[in-house]
Amino acid sequence: MKSVYTFADLQSWEKAGAELSPPARLAVFGDPVAHSLSPQLHNPALAAAGIDAQYIRLHIRPEELDPALRLLPRKGFLGANLTIPHKAAALEAMDEVDDLARKIGAVNTVVIDNTDNAEGAKLIGYNSDGPGFLRAIRHEFSVDLRDLRILVLGAGGGAGKAVAVQCALEHCERLVLVNRTAEKAAALAEELRPHFREERLEGPDERLVAVPWEREALEAELENIDLIVNATSLGMKRTDPELLHDSLIRPHHLVYDMVYSPPRTRLIMSSLTAGARVANGLSMLLYQGAISSEHWFNRDAPLSAMRQGLAEAVAAKD
Ligand code: NAP
Repeated sequence: MKSVYTFADLQSWEKAGAELSPPARLAVFGDPVAHSLSPQLHNPALAAAGIDAQYIRLHIRPEELDPALRLLPRKGFLGANLTIPHKAAALEAMDEVDDLARKIGAVNTVVIDNTDNAEGAKLIGYNSDGPGFLRAIRHEFSVDLRDLRILVLGAGGGAGKAVAVQCALEHCERLVLVNRTAEKAAALAEELRPHFREERLEGPDERLVAVPWEREALEAELENIDLIVNATSLGMKRTDPELLHDSLIRPHHLVYDMVYSPPRTRLIMSSLTAGARVANGLSMLLYQGAISSEHWFNRDAPLSAMRQGLAEAVAAKD
């Protein structure tokens, strides 16, 4: 069995997939995709649920996305996940897009409707990153987004937007958007403004702002923030620059770093030193996977099998 299959493999799946037992019914599409932990998350869950199927990685290039998605029903697949760089492009490739995925502007979960009649199958797109984040925060800090004042670093990226949209839909107490390219955070704030316009949500402070990534602006905001979210790609490499100066992080802060590899990023380490409560992105990965599984199978996901699979995959990486 290969660790990564290609579009060419998918085209001749009768041959390329013949060796697989149980048969492949789910896949993650990415470019690159070799690093994806999704098979280690989903395969133990499929086994625990007694479902005769396995989850594979497919290396799909941007120009192959549409034809690859169209091939899935004919090759016996019942769904897929999409990762970098396909989440936004996939919106156009779907037959139907769920409301939340449309608001987030990205699809990470595809459900193939009517697998018995492959010719007439419909592709339905969902996004489990936003709801996965919601469940992760509840699990890590025993608190709901709606009760928090939240600052999102990297609000202009795909993951940052998913998180910000979810926070807005939950009517969180306050939402501060920060992005290296400031215009992206400002544009997102305008898009989300209607969610903060209801009269009952009005108060003395502006509930939704985009601020520049500058020390004074961040210092002023962080005084009145409960949850800091890193949604940038910074932290994956040991040599990455510092996200926030140590002195800006306070003991009252909850810090959620969406990066999970390495498990203890520079932000997590300095937040711990500051006395803050911390969590990395592994829980979001777990819950977005559980929500994808709920879309595919219409029942609760076997969370403990997923959690165990992920823990083993992370331990093997270290
Ligand atoms: P993306 O769309 O490429 O966005 C990258 C973000 O990082 C943008 O906001 C970008 O700012 C910012 N950024 C990049 N380099 C920077 C730098 N040197 N200084 C400041 N900001 C910088 O990527 P993505 O898909 O949103 O993913 C972002 C991170 O979230 C990745 O680490 C990914 O692994 C993680 N993630 C985790 C989960 C999970 O389940 N835990 C799920 C999804 C994503 P500009 O707009 O200025 O370029």
